[in-house]
Amino acid sequence: MSELHKFVFEGLPVRGMLVRLTDAWQDILQRRQQAGGYPAAVTELLGEMAAAATLMQANIKFNGALILQVQGDGPVRLAVAEVQPDLALRATATVQGDVADGVPLSHLVNVNNQGRCAITLDPKDRLPGQQPYQGVVPLFGDRREKLEKLSEVIEHYMLQSEQLDTRLVLAANDRVAAGLLIQRLPLQGEANLSGSGAVRRDEDQIGANEDYNRIAILATILRRLFWEEDVRHFEPLSGEQGPRFACTCSRERVASMLRGLGTDEVESVLAEQGQVEVGCDFCGAQYRFDPVDAAQLFLQKADQPPGSPGVH
Ligand SMILES: [Zn+2]
Repeated sequence: MSELHKFVFEGLPVRGMLVRLTDAWQDILQRRQQAGGYPAAVTELLGEMAAAATLMQANIKFNGALILQVQGDGPVRLAVAEVQPDLALRATATVQGDVADGVPLSHLVNVNNQGRCAITLDPKDRLPGQQPYQGVVPLFGDRREKLEKLSEVIEHYMLQSEQLDTRLVLAANDRVAAGLLIQRLPLQGEANLSGSGAVRRDEDQIGANEDYNRIAILATILRRLFWEEDVRHFEPLSGEQGPRFACTCSRERVASMLRGLGTDEVESVLAEQGQVEVGCDFCGAQYRFDPVDAAQLFLQKADQPPGSPGVH
């Protein structure tokens, strides 16, 4: 079963989270099987994105969806992982052409330096006209080198957005998508440090960095080594409280989207195909609108009071 674990290191200004997506991840992949499935390297990237997005969502207090999205200029044109505050998640990727096994990130999404990664926070009860918050994350390091791991991209983002040193380890295959996040907490708030014995508040940032660095290095070596540290482990989130696949698509959302396209566009599809059929890339659901359904879409719109918020 998919699980999210949170833990803190007693006496150290370090917290961590571990996510293991098993059934949730297999659900996502299975829904893609009909369309031929993903190449292995894309499976790995999308799995890492799903794990990273789950960790980021669990790490913030925000009532809305967190969407991690890469628009690529390589074989992966688009990859999206979206996680709700209750850890319901979905993910999809659009792939063009062949992808060799084991290729690094830039070969997938940043071949011609045009790849873009964005993290969007979309408030649940968005007011009319209110835009989601979006942060664009460079796919390049400090020396303009192409980043070859998604974890490095996200670490940059966390440092910029939260001003917190973060170490991320991500891995995925066609069975499991997993991620480990280790974060150094700000030193103010001595409650973090109670029980450390030494008068840590007199130590400067260097001491804190050493703690953080040691744990972060351990993280990259082997998770099991943590159990040599004094770890307080919280009840894991799993099942209905944990990460699981769920799609937020609905016929009403598709209808809103079609209204947004306008009568002319919808009528031209009807003339060509006799019906309008829209498939959800995330879950594979198909929504069909025959000419009568389509006509009703626009009747409903006329019934709405002017200025009512459009659902997106
Ligand atoms: Zn769907």
